Amino acid sequence: MQIARTKAEIRKLCTQWRDPATPVILVPTMGFLHDGHLSLMRLARQQAGPEGRVIASIFVNPTQFGPGEDFDSYPRDETRDFDLLRAEGIDAIFAPEASEVYDPEAQTIVETTELAKTLIGKLRPGHFRGVATIVTKLFNIIRPDAAVFGEKDYQQLAVIRTMTRDLDMGIDIIGAPIQREADGLAMSSRNVRLTSEDRAAAPILSRALDQAEAMAPSGITASRLRSHVRAMLEAEPRARVQSVDIRDAATLATISGPLTRPAVILLAVSFGKVFLIDNRVVQPAQEIP
Ligand code: AMP
Repeated sequence: MQIARTKAEIRKLCTQWRDPATPVILVPTMGFLHDGHLSLMRLARQQAGPEGRVIASIFVNPTQFGPGEDFDSYPRDETRDFDLLRAEGIDAIFAPEASEVYDPEAQTIVETTELAKTLIGKLRPGHFRGVATIVTKLFNIIRPDAAVFGEKDYQQLAVIRTMTRDLDMGIDIIGAPIQREADGLAMSSRNVRLTSEDRAAAPILSRALDQAEAMAPSGITASRLRSHVRAMLEAEPRARVQSVDIRDAATLATISGPLTRPAVILLAVSFGKVFLIDNRVVQPAQEIP
């Protein structure tokens, strides 16, 4: 008989009993897949190994959209998504209706109290509550060993890592790098909704991040770097700057003085009705322990 005194011990035992040779890896998406999503599928496939299983979910989650946001106009194309996932060798797709996922009588939510209030959480109140709740539900429904999320949604990744840790979910969270179009624009399902003029203007986000990355090691303060990035974005008349922030890359804590540790620059910019985000981790001149 085994006696486990720690969470790690009991989890290890249970994992062994669940057949560690065939891990299950989940990749949650809202569909209308692009190469960014597919890079997550490939990473999951690679991490799962030849015996493992990769499950992709496609669900445009209503509870993470606020009133007046783009839930209704969010692009959808299930047939194409299924073909793309089949070609990637995905083992299963979970693509439920909202009525299947949410019980009208439900009264439980999941929220990362501090992280949900800051940055995108300020621009989109309730967004991260919707994200944390649906991801918890997907984790409970599928019970994966690991799940892959993109660094494109930097704060979302932080919310999910925090939630997984705080609630002892025992699921490995794997981050995947941002995939970009040839002109630098971060891939997004929303890009197809940009007008051709806005599409031509939108790479200003990645150009501003390139400049910031080049300037960061010069010893510039976080506040000055932020002002520089904001000015660059505001010089583009089609861009409506929603927020520019520089935070500690590991904790998302605010910073204003000289960079002493890796920092992340987080952008939220609208073009017409299309809300785009992007980010970049930048390095200080010298890391101070
Ligand atoms: P979404 O369908 O927008 O909810 O995205 C599903 C997953 O794909 C999330 O984990 C995103 O962070 C990730 N993702 C979206 N766009 C990109 C991209 N350009 N590069 C890498 N991952 C991405």
